[in-house]
Amino acid sequence: MRAVQDRTTKYTSAVREFIAVQRHATNAEILVHLQAVYPDISATTVHRITARLYERGELQLAPTGAANVLRYDANLTLHDHFMCEVCGLLRDAQLGDLVRPAIEQAIGADCSISGSLTVSGICKQCHKEGV
Ligand SMILES: [Zn+2]
Ligand SMILES: [Zn+2]
Repeated sequence: MRAVQDRTTKYTSAVREFIAVQRHATNAEILVHLQAVYPDISATTVHRITARLYERGELQLAPTGAANVLRYDANLTLHDHFMCEVCGLLRDAQLGDLVRPAIEQAIGADCSISGSLTVSGICKQCHKEGV
């Protein structure tokens, strides 16, 4: 039992570190990265760890990409995103106080924006590859 706990603790730290650097990651991305170091880690273990970190409020959910796969976000503040519609790249952004009123005005009918905004487009890398 003790050995299992130690392993879980080790895996949990590895997940935390990876997502802190990546800022956004899916369970599949985390699994691929961790398997390079711990070949015996399973998808179920990764799911369990991210679900627990999410429950504890250490991660929040990021916008899903085109594949509509759950993606976690290490940035816990309310923030906006740019998402590449080709490769799914996600960048944190603060669209801020100038943009919101303009969007609200364009939407009209006294609707107000309360959550975060996700703007889609094409990232630099995909531009370069001439998509
Ligand atoms: Zn892209
Ligand atoms: Zn984010």
